[in-house]
Amino acid sequence: MQALLNAIVVLRRLSDLHFTQRASLVGVTGLAPAGIDQAIMTIGELGVAIESEPERGFRLRQPFDLIDVAEVAAAMTRDARDAFDVHLTDVTGSTNSDLMRDAEHLPSGQVLTTELQIAGRGRRGRAWTAALGGSLTCSILWRFARGASSLSGLSLAVGLAAVRAVERRGAAGVMLKWPNDLVAMRNGAWSKLGGILIEITGDANGPSSAVIGIGLNVALGPAAQDIDQAATDLAALGGRESRNRLLGALLEELLVGLRAFEVSGFAPLASEWNARHAFHGRPVVVSGEGSAPLDGTAAGVDASGALLLRTASGLERRFSGELSLRLA
Ligand code: ATP
Repeated sequence: MQALLNAIVVLRRLSDLHFTQRASLVGVTGLAPAGIDQAIMTIGELGVAIESEPERGFRLRQPFDLIDVAEVAAAMTRDARDAFDVHLTDVTGSTNSDLMRDAEHLPSGQVLTTELQIAGRGRRGRAWTAALGGSLTCSILWRFARGASSLSGLSLAVGLAAVRAVERRGAAGVMLKWPNDLVAMRNGAWSKLGGILIEITGDANGPSSAVIGIGLNVALGPAAQDIDQAATDLAALGGRESRNRLLGALLEELLVGLRAFEVSGFAPLASEWNARHAFHGRPVVVSGEGSAPLDGTAAGVDASGALLLRTASGLERRFSGELSLRLA
């Protein structure tokens, strides 16, 4: 972990325009010369190309899009700036785990993002892959007066907000895969652009709180090869790549979505979600541990966010949680 932290500290001091001497990096970071060399090597291993010349020092081959909390704030409306308190940590295992651990003491609207998430989580213990500089990963703590049992459509509402945000940043053709993925068609296959992991605590009848984790692929680069299903990124979909502006747009859209959800739940959002449903009218299989796979035709979601399937024996409803939806 320390090696990764040092790498980010050094990365912040590098430029793609001019070389920075090792001695000057020692001066500004407090690391020993050997520590600088180690950090440079680690940055390279993380996929960020660096030029190194004995007399001149180090230079980034390409501009690096660092996350900057002030830039995120500048990209948001005043309303969103007031609602969210954005924090940045250089490296962490999982921003969701960090917020879950401290949730009791943190205010609603606390946001944690990171330059490098190394143990991101999906559902059912799956891993979420992030690329240094090429992913946006963040978690948001939000408190609800309503109970945990009425938050079932929340991940769908968050998905819609995320789609609106990536569209504002120029991405085209982004759809939703029930219950928690942003997808787009790439090379003839639905490919994941982003995922949402929501962890809820609190009383069934309220109040409750949610840690909303969102991972978006901005420009994955070689990290795409670590992912065991089709993935895409904002860059491939024509999107603009500034992660600060993307996070600003995401928080603005989330604020609108969360406020609407607080008042009326998912029901008023169902028709918009259905217009974005990637698998609508397609033959699909829903599977999950402890239940037999169910074949049917995807028929959208109902007012609570449950998936509707037309099957041989009629219309079936399935709730999210541990279920997985695939094209048949
Ligand atoms: P389901 O498809 O059944 O809804 P899932 O496979 O999408 O479930 P999630 O928990 O939503 O599972 O996401 C984790 C999975 O997503 C990983 O197992 C991996 O296949 C894929 N994945 C991990 N990182 C990324 C990424 N950065 N971009 C796209 N896909 C990813």
